[in-house]
Amino acid sequence: MRRPVQGPANAELVLEALKVSGKPMTAYEALEAVRKEGIRSPLTVYRALSLLIESKKVRRVQSIGAYIVCKYPTPDVAIVLAICDDCGSVEELPEDGALSSLKQEIDQIGFHVEQSIIEVKGRCGACFSETPT
Ligand SMILES: [Zn+2]
Repeated sequence: MRRPVQGPANAELVLEALKVSGKPMTAYEALEAVRKEGIRSPLTVYRALSLLIESKKVRRVQSIGAYIVCKYPTPDVAIVLAICDDCGSVEELPEDGALSSLKQEIDQIGFHVEQSIIEVKGRCGACFSETPT
């Protein structure tokens, strides 16, 4: 019988599953993907995912409740996530000035920003060009 693997090793397995899938996965999908490695508890997957988020290897896409591999792991960089409503793909892009132009308004209300992520929804290039005209 295979010995159950612990903490960081579980995180590596979940990260590998996300990389292999190449698309956003929910915690449940990640659990399905690592089940063959002997991980059966959703709690284990959630722990692995929060470890991966802490170490900036994985990002949670709030609006679709799924996880992606971080392309820009720098914590200070604002990020734009372009989410395709058709195929569910998520493209991670460095944010280019939109938030800094909002900075004055944000400062004015005395708000302290800790994380800046903009999620935009629509259709990716591939899905958009498949649409009959
Ligand atoms: Zn698409």
